[in-house]
Amino acid sequence: MRKNIVAGNWKMNKNLQEGIALAKELNEALTADKPNCDVVICTPFIHLASVTPIVDSAIIGVGAENCADKVSGAYTGEVSAEMVASTGAQYVILGHSERRSYYGETVEILEEKVKLALANNLTPIFCIGEVLEERKAEKQNEVVAAQLASVFTLSAEDFGKIILAYEPVWAIGTGLTATPEQAQDIHAYIRSLIAEKYGQEVADNCSILYGGSCKPSNAKELFAKPDVDGGLIGGAALKVADFKGIIDAFK
Ligand code: PEP
Repeated sequence: MRKNIVAGNWKMNKNLQEGIALAKELNEALTADKPNCDVVICTPFIHLASVTPIVDSAIIGVGAENCADKVSGAYTGEVSAEMVASTGAQYVILGHSERRSYYGETVEILEEKVKLALANNLTPIFCIGEVLEERKAEKQNEVVAAQLASVFTLSAEDFGKIILAYEPVWAIGTGLTATPEQAQDIHAYIRSLIAEKYGQEVADNCSILYGGSCKPSNAKELFAKPDVDGGLIGGAALKVADFKGIIDAFK
């Protein structure tokens, strides 16, 4: 059956020394009080090689926040999936709304990134979600269905390796959170699309995380919904007490 997962997205926060200190502090806290779910931290590229050896890989997985849509070569400033994997990282966030809106990442670009991540044995945490205008117009189902096109070209076997994260853009970093009912409704819809495409077993095995202003005070209620399998956490992943408070929602 599918796993419960809490994944942190550090975004462009913490210099190298601060990132190492945060990872050490989290590792200590979770070694002392073991989580009842999988835990992942997704860090800026430059942190990866330093953070992977200092966390206990049996407790904390490490991932990048992006990777290139090309294998290698003359793409100045880009970081390939192979490079990410060579640091010891096991995950990569792809399709985050900030990448889609600020860096023009399209369904086609993301399809390439997902394939390259999988080819390098990275687990993509693939993000989908609607903006506020789309929610107001009740178009959220249409939007997520269209975004899933990037991963619906995968074989059933490869689709089985990815994690999905539903993140309503209007809830990211805004303090607004989807209600547990709103999250459940769309997670169930996403799972129904997976079942249509790949069958019920693949759908039942897919972890679908919720992201958007998740915090210790609302995590338990959100994660209690049957189709919400954990969270992708931005701001609250930068403080061990908050991140652990969310992880402890599974206790
Ligand atoms: C995110 O960026 O993935 C996110 C969920 O951010 P926040 O928790 O800060 O809303």
